[in-house]
Order: sequence, then C-alpha cells, then structure tokens
Amino acid sequence: MEKFTYLSKTKLNDLPKAPGVYALSSQKTVLYIGKAANLKERVKNHFMQPTYRDDLFIQDVKKIGYIKTESDIDALLLESQLIKKQQPRYNVMWKDDKKYFYVAITKETLPRIFLTHQPALQKQSLKTPKSRLEKIKYIGPFIEGKAIKQVLRLLRKVFPYYTAKNHGALLCQYCHLNLCPGPTPNKEMYKKNIRNLVSVLKGKKTSVQKQLKKEMESTAKSQDFEKAAELRDQFLSLESIISHARLLAPEVSPSVNWIIIEKDLKKLFSIKKRITRIEAYDISNIQGKEATGSQVTFLKGIPAKEHYRNYKIHITGKPNDFAMMEELLLRRLLHKEWPYPQIIVIDGGKGQLTSAINATLNISAAKKIKIVALAKKQNELFFPGKSKSVLLRDLPRPSENLFLHIRDEAHRFAITYHRLLHRKKVLKTN
Ligand SMILES: [Zn+2]
Repeated sequence: MEKFTYLSKTKLNDLPKAPGVYALSSQKTVLYIGKAANLKERVKNHFMQPTYRDDLFIQDVKKIGYIKTESDIDALLLESQLIKKQQPRYNVMWKDDKKYFYVAITKETLPRIFLTHQPALQKQSLKTPKSRLEKIKYIGPFIEGKAIKQVLRLLRKVFPYYTAKNHGALLCQYCHLNLCPGPTPNKEMYKKNIRNLVSVLKGKKTSVQKQLKKEMESTAKSQDFEKAAELRDQFLSLESIISHARLLAPEVSPSVNWIIIEKDLKKLFSIKKRITRIEAYDISNIQGKEATGSQVTFLKGIPAKEHYRNYKIHITGKPNDFAMMEELLLRRLLHKEWPYPQIIVIDGGKGQLTSAINATLNISAAKKIKIVALAKKQNELFFPGKSKSVLLRDLPRPSENLFLHIRDEAHRFAITYHRLLHRKKVLKTN
C-alpha cells in the first residue's frame, strides 16, 4: 500500500490541491484519517475552522501525511483501507454513531453484493446463525454511505451482479439498466466480474485494468472479436467511471463557509445587518461558592482567543444561576470600549435568557443584540418571546457545527478558569 508523505503542520500551504487521503498525526501516532477532493483546503479547514470534534485532538497534531490519488473514487477506497489498517483513535471513536457502511459479498456459486452496517454488531447478534455469517465477506468501513452507494452503482455497470437470490426467468428492472447479468449468466464470467469488482473496492484498480487489457489482447489474437470488444468496453468504462466520478463535496474555505453560516444566522435571528461577532457566556460554580463566568468570542465563526475574558462573580449568598448570569452580562456590556456582538449565546434555558435580556435593558446600545440560550442537555436553542425551542440538529449543518463549537469552547474555557482559581485557593489554605 502507498505510504503517506509527511510535512510539518506549519507547512500547510505545501499540500497539493489534488484529491487524496490525509493523516493528522502527533509526533508518533496517526490520530485521524480523512479524504478530500482538495487536500490543501480540507486540511486547512481542520485548523482554521475546527469543528467541535476536531477540537478534541487538533492541538496534538504535529504533522500531516498525505497521499495524492488520481480520483475521488480512489480517495474514497484508499481512505477505507487505511482506516481499517491503522484504526486511528479519532476515527474509531466515532464509528458507532456514524454507522459506517460495509460492502457484503456472499460466498455462493453466484455471489450477491449489497451494502450493510457494522458486521461486527451483526456477529454479536444471537439471531444470526453462525453458518450464515461465515458465508459473507465484508469490505470496509466506508465513512459516507452516499458516496459508497454511488460507487457501487457505477461499478455495477462495469461488473453487473445480483443483489437478490434467485433471479426469475424474465429480465428484471436492473437487467434493463445493464446492472444485472440476466437470468442465465455465464458462471465463469460472473465470478470473474465479482473478483474484479472486489479487487477494485480493495484499491487494486491498476491490477484489474492490466488484467483486462491482457485478456482483451489475447482474445483479439484468437479472433474472438465480439469478446474482445466486450472486454474493451469494460476496460474503458472502468477507466472513465473512476476518473470522472465526482463523489466528494468540494472543500470550502473558512471565508466561504462563513458566508453560508451568516446567511442562515441572519434568517434565524431576523438580522438585516452583517454579523461579524458572536459572544458566548457560561457560568461555572460549585454550590454557588467561587462562581466564575467566562466569555468566549467568535469573529466570523472563528474563535478569537484574545477576546476571551474571565469574571469572578461578586454576588454572594444562596446560589442563584439567574442573578449570576445577569451580573455577568451587565459587567461585560458596561465595557463599551469592546465592540458589541450581534449575537450573544448564553448557557442555560428560559430563566437564564430572561436574566440576560434584563441586563441589556439598562444599556440602550445593547438592546439591539440578539440573545439566545443554549440548553446543553438537549442541545436546544431558546429564543426570546418564543415558547418552542429549536433543536441544533434541525439547523443547517454548518450552523449546527458552529453552535456546537461555541458551546464546547465556552464550557472548556469556563472550566479551565474555575480549576485555576480553585487550585490557587487550595495552595493558599495549605
Ligand atoms: Zn436481472
């Protein structure tokens, strides 16, 4: 198998703009493997607009490995191979919730092919008889169901196969699309097609092409021109499918991504002017003692750490989340020398939302700021004056990711400060 070419994470601009597979690595281990239509843009996005998942490991990335491929399909197939072989921690971690796909090949006289989830889970199920499992071979995992479905469909044109047992005597709907070998296929030919298909899925496209070419030449020599023409068509359509299929979404730069998000946010918050600054507030306390508040700031969707702030909450007495939120917001808004954000995201539900709005009422310039509460438990947003919440997962994907990023960043920052204060206090009392 091909090997990664590595470069330091300070040299992102040296990455090729070609399709391929990349590895984000610490000094010693591969943390994450991904594929891209444009390696340079995709890898840069991990750093410039990390998703909340990227944040789990992006600081540990020291170098980037890449393998250029000729096409999107090659990248997709190679990604699958490499993830299976190397089992990077941050790919494996998400395996369950992503429902990876596998291509299943039955071990029958005329093998059938279909897509399936998680063969490992099926194996654990008692309902599946052991004998049946041993008769299926799996290739995968494939990360994106949509892409592998497309690939299988394209390859089925080159190497027609059955998906169901017992083909009837008549032509089926797939026969008419040239995807099915018909009621009475030549068994040897059928099996050879399956072998070739499996090889292509395993990333051995080149050897399949070589073999087809060789066969084509020898059949032509033996004057079997009809067969030779068939093989030539197969050879050419395999080549054209692999090099022309566009399966991977093109990468967008952070600035383009922000244009998309800004448009969605304007609609969501009914904002007409430009959105450039979002701030988020989180309160961290242990039974009301030593409560601290934190502010994180995102500029055009990207964390701006120089604008993060910590606050020690002053009000004392019984723990009161609402009063603390009001104090925190009021103290921030009194800093009129810091530009006001267009949107404020606060941690909490309806109660915290009311407190935050109360804080803005005292300052006329702050009244325009749109405030939303993000309740972490269900990942839902509460808007002023609306009784129904909006679930993050119902937002367009780029906006959902931004809110998740903001949420995690605010929480992480709040906890760090809280621990720091607590540690100082422990040192003092000792
Ligand atoms: Zn058929």
